[in-house]
Amino acid sequence: MELDSLYQQVILDHYKSPHHKGLPNSSTSVHHVNPSCGDEITLSLILTDGKVTDLVWDGVGCSISQASSSIMSDLVIGKSAEEAFAVMEHFTTLMQSKGTLTGDEEVLEDAIALAGVSKFPARVKCALLGWMAFKDAAIQAGGVNV
Ligand code: ZN
Repeated sequence: MELDSLYQQVILDHYKSPHHKGLPNSSTSVHHVNPSCGDEITLSLILTDGKVTDLVWDGVGCSISQASSSIMSDLVIGKSAEEAFAVMEHFTTLMQSKGTLTGDEEVLEDAIALAGVSKFPARVKCALLGWMAFKDAAIQAGGVNV
C-alpha cells in the first residue's frame, strides 16, 4: 500500500482509537463479513424522525476496514438517512474509481484518507464493509425506501 503518509496517519488514528465502537444493542443489528480479508462488523443504529441519532459498531479485521467503519460512524451520525446515503454514494464512487478520483473532502472529511485504497481492488471491500452494514441497518430501520 502506497498511501500518502498524512492519510496513513488518519487511518492509523481511527484504527487505534475507533469512534463509536462498542456493543451493538438496538433491534436493528446487522452482521457483515468480508471473507476475502476476514473482516467482520456488527452494527446497530437508531433512527429518530429519519435521522441517525445513534450508531454503535463492533468488529475485527484489517486497519482499512476498522478505520473506515470508524470514519463512517462519524460521518453518518446526526445526518438524515438520505444525507448519509448521499455521502455513502460519493464514497462508493471514489472506491470504485481505481485511483482516478480524489473525492470531495467537504463531503467525505476523514474518509478522503481512504482514497488511495481505490488503487487496490482487493482492499476496496475492506473500506466498504462498514458502509454496507450501515446501509443494511438503515434500510431495516425503515429510514430509506429502496
Ligand atoms: Zn480487510
